[in-house]
Amino acid sequence: MTAEEKTILARFLDLTGDYLKYGHALHREEHAFKDDETTEPSDLPLAYMVEEPEDSPEYPDTVQSEDSLEAIVADVTACGACGLAATRTLPVPGEGSIHPLVMVIGEGPGADEDSTGRPFVGKAGQLLDKMLQSIGLERNKNCYIANIVKCRPPGNRDPEFDEIASCFPFLKRQIALLRPEIILCAGRVAAQSLLKTGKGINALRGEFFEFSIGEAVIPVLCTYHPSAILRDESLKRPAWEDLKLLKSQLASRLE
Ligand code: SF4
Repeated sequence: MTAEEKTILARFLDLTGDYLKYGHALHREEHAFKDDETTEPSDLPLAYMVEEPEDSPEYPDTVQSEDSLEAIVADVTACGACGLAATRTLPVPGEGSIHPLVMVIGEGPGADEDSTGRPFVGKAGQLLDKMLQSIGLERNKNCYIANIVKCRPPGNRDPEFDEIASCFPFLKRQIALLRPEIILCAGRVAAQSLLKTGKGINALRGEFFEFSIGEAVIPVLCTYHPSAILRDESLKRPAWEDLKLLKSQLASRLE
């Protein structure tokens, strides 16, 4: 609250109290208030400064000749590197085209994904499909969809730092293998984890960043998670602006 707002509120309370008690206003000294210290709401969420653990397997930035989507799925399925393995029903490695124009990265599986082993199903998944279709994309034709963590955090909580760090090598392998034209991060956790930033999604959306892997530099666009759009319709418009941006960037890369 600003000093001015506090002064107005205090005057109002003083006047109300005086009239109730004495039937008229008393002469009072001006209050001396200071502005509250403010924090940008977009910077409030925790940062996901992902550092891969030292004891993680070697997953270099370049594709290993023997690597494949099938190998990644097998490794994810066998993985017990973090606590989420104990509570998941099915791991959700990802799905889509082996030559995607766009790789969509979400936060982690929810209940529907956990029970099916597929990413972005349920209402949020249907909305994501519609968003992609609106700019001529299709999940299994020219997109690949994955998450930052491959196993469901219980109760749909945010994944924790150590869980993200343990799982990040799988995502890097996927990106190195798929080499999408553009990465679309859906939501804050995906954006912060991939870009290693503490900024909120409001500050990150609407412009391109870069993710380097090997010699490739892949443009990264961040937008709102479909679940957030379902909760708050006002996010539809900016999400649509992001999609238009993605479409035009894609068109220029494919020229
Ligand atoms: Fe392994 Fe990732 Fe699942 Fe954790 S979330 S158990 S690191 S696959």
